[in-house]
Amino acid sequence: MTKEVTSNNFAAVHKAIEQIVYTLSGRIFSYAEHVPLDRYLKQWYESGQKNGFAEQVEFHGVETRSGAAGFLLGSYTSAVSSSGVYSLLTASSCLPLLRPMLSYTHRLYSGSKPLVLHVAALSYEANEFHVDNASLLDFAYTSDFATISSFALEDAAHISLASTLAAKAGPVVHAYEYDTLTTTFVPNEASVSASKTVECFHSFVPAEGVTANAIAALEHVNKHFGTKYAPVEYYGPATATQVIVAFGSKELQKARALASRTSNVGVAAIRVFPVIEESFARVIPKTCKKLVVASQTKLTALDTHSTFFSVVFATAASALPKVQVVEARYSDVDGISESVLAAELDLSSELSAVSASSLVETTFRIWEEDSVESLANALALVHASRDVEQNVVYRTLYDNQLFLGLRVSNVQVSKSSAKLPGLTDEEPKADVTILTSEKIANHVRVLANVADRSLCIVYTAVNPADAAKKLPAVFVKDVVEKDIRLVFANPNEQTHALNLVLLAAYFVQLKRNGADSTSVPSLKKNFATLGWDADEFDAVVKDLEGQAEPVKLNPDVLKELQLPEDELPTSAKENSFEANTVKELEEEVLPQSGNLNTVAKQLIFKEAYGQQELPRPNAPAKICTVRVKSNKRLTPRDYNRNIFHIEFDIGESGLTYDIGEALGVYGVNNKANVEKFIADYGLKANEVIYVPSLTHPGNWESNTVFQALSHTLDIFGKPTKQFYQTMAEYAADPKEKRQLEVLISPAGAADLQRRSEVDMLTYADLLLEFKSAKMTAVDLARHVPVLKRREYSISSSQRKHKDAIHLLVVVVGWTDPMGRDRYGQCSHYLSQLQIGDTVCVAVKPSVMKLPDSPKKPIVMAGLGTGLAPFRAFLQYKEWQWSQGIASGDVILYLGSRTQREEYLYGEDWEAYHAAGLLTHIGQAFSRDQPYKIYIQDVMRSTKALLKKALIDEGGSFYLCGPTWPLPEITSVLEEVIQSSSSEPVDTRKVIEQWKEDRRFVIEVY
Ligand SMILES: Cc1cc2nc3c(=O)[nH]c(=O)nc-3n(C[C@H](O)[C@H](O)[C@H](O)COP(=O)(O)OP(=O)(O)OC[C@H]3O[C@@H](n4cnc5c(N)ncnc54)[C@H](O)[C@@H]3O)c2cc1C
Repeated sequence: MTKEVTSNNFAAVHKAIEQIVYTLSGRIFSYAEHVPLDRYLKQWYESGQKNGFAEQVEFHGVETRSGAAGFLLGSYTSAVSSSGVYSLLTASSCLPLLRPMLSYTHRLYSGSKPLVLHVAALSYEANEFHVDNASLLDFAYTSDFATISSFALEDAAHISLASTLAAKAGPVVHAYEYDTLTTTFVPNEASVSASKTVECFHSFVPAEGVTANAIAALEHVNKHFGTKYAPVEYYGPATATQVIVAFGSKELQKARALASRTSNVGVAAIRVFPVIEESFARVIPKTCKKLVVASQTKLTALDTHSTFFSVVFATAASALPKVQVVEARYSDVDGISESVLAAELDLSSELSAVSASSLVETTFRIWEEDSVESLANALALVHASRDVEQNVVYRTLYDNQLFLGLRVSNVQVSKSSAKLPGLTDEEPKADVTILTSEKIANHVRVLANVADRSLCIVYTAVNPADAAKKLPAVFVKDVVEKDIRLVFANPNEQTHALNLVLLAAYFVQLKRNGADSTSVPSLKKNFATLGWDADEFDAVVKDLEGQAEPVKLNPDVLKELQLPEDELPTSAKENSFEANTVKELEEEVLPQSGNLNTVAKQLIFKEAYGQQELPRPNAPAKICTVRVKSNKRLTPRDYNRNIFHIEFDIGESGLTYDIGEALGVYGVNNKANVEKFIADYGLKANEVIYVPSLTHPGNWESNTVFQALSHTLDIFGKPTKQFYQTMAEYAADPKEKRQLEVLISPAGAADLQRRSEVDMLTYADLLLEFKSAKMTAVDLARHVPVLKRREYSISSSQRKHKDAIHLLVVVVGWTDPMGRDRYGQCSHYLSQLQIGDTVCVAVKPSVMKLPDSPKKPIVMAGLGTGLAPFRAFLQYKEWQWSQGIASGDVILYLGSRTQREEYLYGEDWEAYHAAGLLTHIGQAFSRDQPYKIYIQDVMRSTKALLKKALIDEGGSFYLCGPTWPLPEITSVLEEVIQSSSSEPVDTRKVIEQWKEDRRFVIEVY
């Protein structure tokens, strides 16, 4: 059978997922700052493409920081459109930051707005990406989200779709593994067209309850696409006595590879989590005596059961009480291995020799500079196009740190008719190694993990006669010692040199296996099928005959080799998913030191140096500089909370804003703290350092050390675990090194947590504590992350204050266990600003908008600084009044601790009330009486007023401030809705409708 091969066969799975997301979604929120999970979505959105319902799509790329999901939540509660879906894309490592907000989802959920989280099971630890299903399942389980998992490229589109259908009954996580999905070759994969997707979505009738609906969703997809997905899928003999229970593609791959080498082990793959008891009991063979649960935990939680194990254990205890359940536990950083599973299985005899690696005909490893076109795709295509039933898998990884960016691919070709489950190993021994430059071998020992007498093809201009002298010494040593057959491809002599390398790999490999030139015609046909120039084929093969002669290296060369002192790494690390983009900086990509004279020259001769002065060169958004006009504390000096009102003069900055919008503020670190750190750490405040610009590639930002520590680096922020690791690498004192290593190991997890959550140590604290891990200013610029901006609701309207912008801010503060007064970075910075000081800001759009008709009543509920946007609302209404535009009822509920200390903007409210613009003020000062009165209590006592405004007159409701009162306030509104009818009312549905109509808007943080 001839396979049809097109480049689509290798379509990245992410595209498959993104296609489903784009087709079905009305709004897409991408929290994928460091991982390219939204590449295609962005392209389609920017080109104005509509979704499958022929509607405009909203796409938001959102920074991932604490409370980040508030943006999604705000939009979710106030959306008008009912068609389409809410989709969120992120990696599992970001879920802890999104969790606080997303935990409100259930309360606000509406089946008419399905919410799907497409989560790549991915974390970054110890300089590398790892599969992280542990965080994902923890999040989903504790937040009560159903999880549906893709296992491979083949099912990614279908499962994305099924997850979206399932979300018609409740929020869903679609889990997938980034690496497996992007690289497995699937011939003739049936495409999932947009029209079929929409048809499948429309024709689905949700079942009652999340679990039943997840099953119904899979069945519906099966019916549409002829697939056989189930909540639990079983692979293996019907008489298995032991079953491995696994979640995730890597786990499944390893479990199935191991099971295939035994006669009595099966694999239960969990597709829907929490595990559905009946589905589980149905697939486990009656003969099964033992379940081995592949249980991934975070490295920091290796001492405890994983959520996955606990849930499987509980399910099995109820469904299969006689079956023993054991845990095969491993960390996300170590990853699953056959030996972890085998240790828990009762394997009476040796594992059968039919291992996955015996199915492999050839393993190719290609080392490429990441700036050249990838050979791996092409190589895999050539093999996949042969006239035999054969299977090809490949996996590409990017190491941005080696040789300014390397791409390493392992391509495995199976023996005739064999189907490979995936790569047989992370680092299989290569039969053919290809290097696109001999220089790569200066940075990594490319022949460390190859078969003896295997083939190595190097793309080089080095003359074969000079090979021993000109090639890297470690490489030469390996060639000689492993008796490698070394073949050179000369870039200058070939027009299609890269294709030649590719062809060489194939052709020489054929020869090695004793194949003769009769295989060549079919090879030629395959090249033509791929759209390559078949006419050149004969010429290339002729050249190849000459070149395929191995380069001879006399073993005596070993005696003269000058080997480097430091050992080279033997493999690449996956620390990126994309090529390194800062090539122009060549070896200079790291921050560097400079001096003030150079900077002075650059400033004076700007044009000659291409110099530009930017307020915050590293800020991604369009930013403006504004000047402080007034800064007034609103709470008494002796009160323990500092809440203040700050006004900025917009001046000539060109900044404009709308009511309800927020201001992003780029805070500056406290001057005294920066100076103290510079002195304590022994830095030179005026030393100049150049940092490669993130926003203007190819350019440098010059800063003095003082500037960098004040404006750019989050030196007083919370250190990441990665930073502890970096410190350990720097530590010269073995005791300190050991101490740091323990802190990042499982044994130090509790200690590390205490440092972070109780002591709340900063980067500066750590640097001063571990003195031997001394960093230069340049090192700090490399390793300490950049400060993030903070957002504040604008409390003024530009209709009233044309040239000003107002904020209401509470200073975040606490005393740490060392007795030091500590403050939130930005709120404290703002509180200290003096009149005339300048601040860098950017306006951020918001969902807080007034109803189109000014006559419609508005009901506002604000807690603490949550009152800010309502002052802007009233100022806007005041302007409307002045224009003769009549207003409907304006009702304000405000909540804070005490009236004496925290009656925020009290004078404004009373003035508006006296003028008749604000028709009602409901005040809840929780601590002003012996018992607590909260905002919801005050609202409850004025239900008639609420009914008139919201139900009789169709007004809008707004809530801003902290999240905690949201459920209670929603309950009051439900009571109001019910009170308007003598019949039982589906109050949640009414609230849903209000949200649809943008009559129920929240902004919580
Ligand atoms: C849309 C929106 C509107 C907002 N509107 C307002 C508003 O009108 N008024 C207002 O006051 N706020 C508002 N906020 C909140 C505001 O953006 C900030 O989050 C808030 O001011 C705190 O920022 P900070 O820099 O002062 O504190 P941060 O430095 O960010 O500290 C915040 C918390 O992080 C923790 N932390 C800090 N350092 C460490 C450490 N080294 N180790 C361990 N933990 C640490 C502490 O728990 C601390 O309380 C709004 C937020 C959003 C999203």
